[in-house]
Amino acid sequence: MTPEFLEKYEPVIGLEVHAQMLTATKAFCGCSTEFNSPPNHNTCPICLGHPGTLPALNENLLRFIVRMGLATNCKIRPRSIFARKNYFYPDLPKGYQISQYETPICHNGFLEVELKDGTMKRIGITRIHMEEDAGKSIHDFGAETLVDLNRAGVPLIEIVSEPDMRSSAEAYAYLTAIKSIVTYLGICDGNMEEGSLRCDANVSVRLRGAEKFGQKTEVKNLNSFRNVQRAIESEIERQIGLVELGRPVIHQTMQFDDNKGVTRPMRTKEEAHDYRYFPEPDLLPVIVSPDYIEEVRSEIPELQRIRRDRFVADYKLPKYDADVLTAEKSVADFFEESVQSLASKSDESRKAISNFIMGDVMRLMSERKENILQLKLQPHYLSELVDLIQDKTISNKIAKDIFPDLPGSTESPKQIVERRGLVQVTDADALRKTILEVIAANQDNLTKYRAGKTNLFGFFVGQVMKATQGKANPEIVNELMKAELESHA
Ligand code: ADP
Ligand code: ZN
Ligand code: MG
Repeated sequence: MTPEFLEKYEPVIGLEVHAQMLTATKAFCGCSTEFNSPPNHNTCPICLGHPGTLPALNENLLRFIVRMGLATNCKIRPRSIFARKNYFYPDLPKGYQISQYETPICHNGFLEVELKDGTMKRIGITRIHMEEDAGKSIHDFGAETLVDLNRAGVPLIEIVSEPDMRSSAEAYAYLTAIKSIVTYLGICDGNMEEGSLRCDANVSVRLRGAEKFGQKTEVKNLNSFRNVQRAIESEIERQIGLVELGRPVIHQTMQFDDNKGVTRPMRTKEEAHDYRYFPEPDLLPVIVSPDYIEEVRSEIPELQRIRRDRFVADYKLPKYDADVLTAEKSVADFFEESVQSLASKSDESRKAISNFIMGDVMRLMSERKENILQLKLQPHYLSELVDLIQDKTISNKIAKDIFPDLPGSTESPKQIVERRGLVQVTDADALRKTILEVIAANQDNLTKYRAGKTNLFGFFVGQVMKATQGKANPEIVNELMKAELESHA
C-alpha cells in the first residue's frame, strides 16, 4: 500500500478468534477430544444429533472460558444461556450448533497490546462465548465427499474484539497476545496451523477524520499469523481501490488466496436472522457464583508480560532474553527451575542458562519438532552444566560438547565429565609442556609470528586445544602462550 493512500484512508479492523479448548471430553457429551483418533470414532448419540438425546455442559469448558474472561478484564455474566444457531451443512448432523447469542458469558473486556515500537494500545473485547465445533467434510477421496464427526461437539470459545485496530500490525500484535494468554492459561494449545486457533478478520476503511466506519468485509479461515497480516493488508488495498474509483464496498465474506496474496469474494454475508437463533431448550442456564469466579481467578498464573518484566528485574536478563524465554510458559518454567537449582547464584550463571536455552535447547526443539517437555531434559542438569563452567571444571567448549547427551539422559553432567575424563587442564606446568611441543613442531609459523604475523596466535592456541582434546583452560593457555612466543623475540 502506498503511503499516500494511507495518509488519506484509515483502516479499521476487528477480529473474531475461535480457540479450541483443551478439555479431555467434548462440550456437551463424554466423547473424547483426541485429535488422532480414527474417523467417527469419538462419537455418541448426543454429538451425532440423534433425536431424544440430551446434552450436558462440560464443567471444564465453563472453567476455561471464565479463566479467559478474567484474564482479558471481562465482566462475567452471573446468568447466561445457550442458543441454537440453525443452518444446514453435511458436517452438522443436528442441523444447528449450540452457541451463545444475546447473553455471552464474558463481555466488555479489554487487552493491553504491546506494539513493535514498545508503545501500548488498548483493544476492547466485545464478548467471549462458548460454542461447539462442527464436523469435517473430507473432499480429497476422488469423487466422494466423506464426513468425519470426531470434531462435532468439540468445545470452542469465540473471542470477538471491538473494531479498535488500525493496522495489520496491530491485528498481529493482538493475535499474538491472545495466543500467549490462552497458552499460559493452559486452555488451548494456540496452534494456528493445526486449527486450534482460528481467526476471521473484519476490515473496513474510511477517510481519515471521518467519524462513521466504512462498510466492512470479513476475511475467513486464515491459517497462520502471517496470513492474517497479509490478508488484512491486501483487503485494505482492495477496499481503498474501490473507494478511489467511487465504487461501493459490498458486505461480503472474503477468502484469502495464500499463493497470490489476495482476497476474493466467497459469498454475500448472511445476517444473524438467517440463523434463526433461539434459546437452547435442552440446556439449563449457566449460573456463575462470585465464589466460583474467585476460585477460577486463583488458578490464573502470572501472564507473559508480567513474567517477562520480572525476569528482567529479578535475573538481570536483557529484555530480549526475557521476551524469548517467556514466549512459551513451559520454557519460562524450565528457565526458572534451572535457575533455582544453580549452585552459583550469580547473574552470570543465570545469563549462561538463558544463552543455553535460547541457543542449544531451542535449536534442538526445532530440529526435533518437540516442545521443551518432550525433550526430556532435566532443568537441574542444565544448571549443573553451567556450574561446572563457572567453577572452571570444564570449558565452555566442553560444555557445548556434552549438552547433546543430556536430553533423555539419566547421567548427570558431572558423571559424564568424570566418565569421559573431560576435566579441564589448569595445571600450568603440564600446559607449558604442551605449548613448547606445539611451538617446536611449528618452527616456520614461529618465525612468521615473530616477523610480525601476530594473527598466528590463534593458530598456536588452537593446536594446544587440539592436543588436549579441548580440555585445556583457554585463559591459562592464552597467557602462557603469549609469554612463550614473545620470550625470545
Ligand atoms: P456482524 O453483524 O457482521 O456479525 P458485528 O458487529 O457482530 O458484525 O462485528 C463482528 C466483528 O466485526 C467484530 O470483531 C467487530 O469489531 C468488527 N467490526 C464491526 N464493524 C466493523 C467495521 N466497520 N470495520 C471493521 N470491523 C468491524
Ligand atoms: Zn459424543
Ligand atoms: Mg456478529
